Amino acid sequence: MIEICAVGGYTEIGKNMTAVKIDDHVIIIDMGLHVDNYISFTNDEDLIGISPQQLRKAGVIPDDTVIEKWKDKVALITTTHAHLDHIGAIPFVAPRYHAPLLMTPFAAAVVRAIASDEELKLSNPIEIIQPNSSFSVTNDIKVEFISMTHSIPETNMIAIHTKYGIIIYALDFKLDDNPIIGKKPNYKRLEELGKTGNVLALIVESLRAGEAIKTPSEGVAREMLRDVLLGTQSEGKLIVTTTFSSHLARIKSIVEFGKKLNRKIIFLGRSLAKYTAAGEEVGIIKFSDEVKIIKYGNQVKKFLKKINKSNAGEYLLVVTGHQGEPKATLAKMVGEYNFKFAPEDIIIFSCNIIPSPINEENRRKLETKLSAKGLRIFKDIHVSGHAAREDHRDLINLLQPKNIIPAHGEQQMTSAYASLAKEKGYKLGKTLHMLSNGSFLQLK
Ligand SMILES: [Zn+2]
Repeated sequence: MIEICAVGGYTEIGKNMTAVKIDDHVIIIDMGLHVDNYISFTNDEDLIGISPQQLRKAGVIPDDTVIEKWKDKVALITTTHAHLDHIGAIPFVAPRYHAPLLMTPFAAAVVRAIASDEELKLSNPIEIIQPNSSFSVTNDIKVEFISMTHSIPETNMIAIHTKYGIIIYALDFKLDDNPIIGKKPNYKRLEELGKTGNVLALIVESLRAGEAIKTPSEGVAREMLRDVLLGTQSEGKLIVTTTFSSHLARIKSIVEFGKKLNRKIIFLGRSLAKYTAAGEEVGIIKFSDEVKIIKYGNQVKKFLKKINKSNAGEYLLVVTGHQGEPKATLAKMVGEYNFKFAPEDIIIFSCNIIPSPINEENRRKLETKLSAKGLRIFKDIHVSGHAAREDHRDLINLLQPKNIIPAHGEQQMTSAYASLAKEKGYKLGKTLHMLSNGSFLQLK
């Protein structure tokens, strides 16, 4: 029999974690952080010295006590990609289980860097898997990684092959034929699996299921950046860009246009240094020949003092702090570093505001301060990494799953997914299952 436990990320955004029990073996997919709860709880500091119990209580990590009775059956912990809401809780939660971690080279490099930042020892062995390959858990359970596109390198869908059928875990993804880094989605394999008629269930993200579009390609974000960086008069002006530190495809485009402008490209901030190092370690990118990376606050401050009116036009800075986080470099430039911007220096937000009251307030405060200095602000130079309704429809058509379980989203998002599934003929409670955190579903 197959039983699925929705541990975290169901009817909320964050701390994704799902457990799939196949007879006597349990596979856990994702152990994520709740990023908003994390920020409120820690005020953006590290979590050093805080116990998993405290973090669970504060809703920062998933409440895995709901699968306590399965604890000794856990055979594998795996993850689809290296975003914090999928892997950030691994150093806190995984050591409770005597099971190996299965992840791609990039995700493994990021998990090791997080554990080292938090001064935690990761006792679980790490098994490395390449996209488009498989790992045998037992003689009749196999985990397959299917190459996918999103907003971070080496994203996969996970197919768990069992004697009862195939379970597909699709958190997170978009269907992008021009991803800038990495391959296109492996449509062929998805279609093959669909054609077996044996996909028992699809567990799928819901974040943008309510948007009746196909999410534009990362190639579109690259053209938006080209427009702003190469098509705006910027001579003599400082250019400051900010984006998601883990979005190496986006950063690659920024670096390439920065080179076209003959600017010295400087990365400022710890998380940019962390993801760049992980990407270089596994050979996805090679920025360090072209870019100077300054990691720590005191060195950042020292470097910024060197930039002034006479040399500002030589630089393109990539900085942390796209959501206006008070402890990140961009907020500090207008705060404690008291950086001397000149009027009409350029600030590019290559991101959206992730909707939450904290982010909206932080960004509002930051933009007010930037505007007061007479800067030119370019916002929303961005496309999402998440599937919208028409991508979701394609995925259902490719896989033809017997059951659908919407995950990773607040209620209005999972409901939007449900309305698409109903349109496709799925029946609530029979083949369409709405789970909440801590609930269980038996499939066969
Ligand atoms: Zn993600």
